[in-house]
Amino acid sequence: MKRLENKIALVTGAGRGIGRAIAVALSDEGAQVAVNYNTSAESATVLAAEIESKGGTAVLFQADVSNYDDASILVDQVYARFGRIDILVNNAGISRDNLMVNMTDKECWEVMHANFGSVFNLTRLVAPSMMRERQGRIINITSPTAERAPVEGQSNYAASKAATEAFTRCSALELARFGVTVNAVAPGFVPTDLVGGLLQRYRARIIKRIPVREFERPEDVGAAVAYLATEQARYITGEVLHVDGGVNMSMGL
Ligand code: NAP
Repeated sequence: MKRLENKIALVTGAGRGIGRAIAVALSDEGAQVAVNYNTSAESATVLAAEIESKGGTAVLFQADVSNYDDASILVDQVYARFGRIDILVNNAGISRDNLMVNMTDKECWEVMHANFGSVFNLTRLVAPSMMRERQGRIINITSPTAERAPVEGQSNYAASKAATEAFTRCSALELARFGVTVNAVAPGFVPTDLVGGLLQRYRARIIKRIPVREFERPEDVGAAVAYLATEQARYITGEVLHVDGGVNMSMGL
């Protein structure tokens, strides 16, 4: 029997990048996956077809999860289709890099709303039902920038991820007695669209700062998230699992 057989997972921002790999990893473990996308309808459709071709279940749900009303409709639609949500993965995220002194309000708050607002929205919306069911897994995708690996131009992004890690610990504390765990997975440097600009400019410099001297694969993140979603991880809560080839340990990029 697969480790997540009969589980229902909702993954935000799963149409491409790391979210896509998380959806595949959860499906490979037997979960039925609600695939949220915002603008990437085409690649989300390809993902769903890939999962279905392997005998899995993937259903697409469009929503801008930074917006509470949209997130609320999304959760209602997932409940209507699947009846419950056992695993929530808050993966959706953006960056709007700029030096702090030049950063605009828009650049700051767009990132806070997309990266932290979405976590706040969905956790509040999904937790009550998990509490009633006395089981659930919430996994938030953060970053080494949240703790001790600052990157110039990413004060907004780092603040959004630090907020998410603090929120992870507080909600873990509040939900622990209900059988619901809340953890974060912090990838290091995964060559996706999000970091395409940094990669173009600093590829050689970045690789030298990664102790394992290799870029991370989206599948590395997917495997860690899938583990935290299983019964084997039932006693882990309020943690940040750094899946980063040693980046956080060695003080960053
Ligand atoms: P990506 O390739 O740029 O993908 C971002 C994803 O987030 C897309 O699927 C996008 O959906 C979705 N998204 C953004 N805003 C959204 C919103 N308001 N509502 C719904 N979906 C939204 O980036 P990625 O590298 O895979 O990043 C995924 C997560 O990993 C982010 O939280 C990021 O901060 C984190 N992370 C990435 C790295 C890295 O090195 N790449 C390192 C540490 C942490 P649409 O395309 O459908 O609009």
